[in-house]
Amino acid sequence: MRLILLGPPGAGKGTQAQRLVEKHGIPQLSTGDMLRAAVQAGTEVGKRAKAVMDAGELVSDAIVNAIVAERIDQPDCAKGFILDGYPRTLVQADAVEAMLAERGIALDTVIELVVDDKALVGRIVKRAEDAKAAGQPVRKDDNPAVFEERLREYYKKTAPLIGYYYAKGKLRTVDGMASIDAVTAEIGKVVAAAAK
Ligand code: AMP
Repeated sequence: MRLILLGPPGAGKGTQAQRLVEKHGIPQLSTGDMLRAAVQAGTEVGKRAKAVMDAGELVSDAIVNAIVAERIDQPDCAKGFILDGYPRTLVQADAVEAMLAERGIALDTVIELVVDDKALVGRIVKRAEDAKAAGQPVRKDDNPAVFEERLREYYKKTAPLIGYYYAKGKLRTVDGMASIDAVTAEIGKVVAAAAK
């Protein structure tokens, strides 16, 4: 099973990806997590990505495409993977096509989590509060000011992927405003249908 979770920041992609990991035993490939790990480790990629991420903008396609191309060749991706937060631009979407074609594998489905914009800021603020309460590091970009920029980037660069995948017959939409369990159940149905 190879699938993409699409949706604005705060739509619940990470939460749902975690549930898919548990259910299907395939890894979640979150470019955001990978980039944050690179920043933390102080690698060259991390150094180049840090300021861009802190500003809520998108890291270059070349950087993220290279990270993902390397990651999907790891043995744990052999049975499939969940792309969370990638692709985020049309250039990245074309790169995914090429990467999969080169490896003779295909994408099963793209699930768009549809969420009301007004709910998103609240979710991001809550994520920051929860992290703080749990003694975990709070993401620098999880604040209302940077969030505005992340949402702008989403509409400008990522939302066009909705049409891209719709035209390919790959897009399925799920109501991301429902409860976490209800969203998981809907995604389960979509995944089961795609696996047939
Ligand atoms: P996320 O954890 O998915 O919200 O990503 C956090 C930040 O990492 C984004 O705001 C971008 O700066 C960067 N990022 C993550 N994934 C990508 C991607 N596919 N393309 C470009 N930048 C990305």
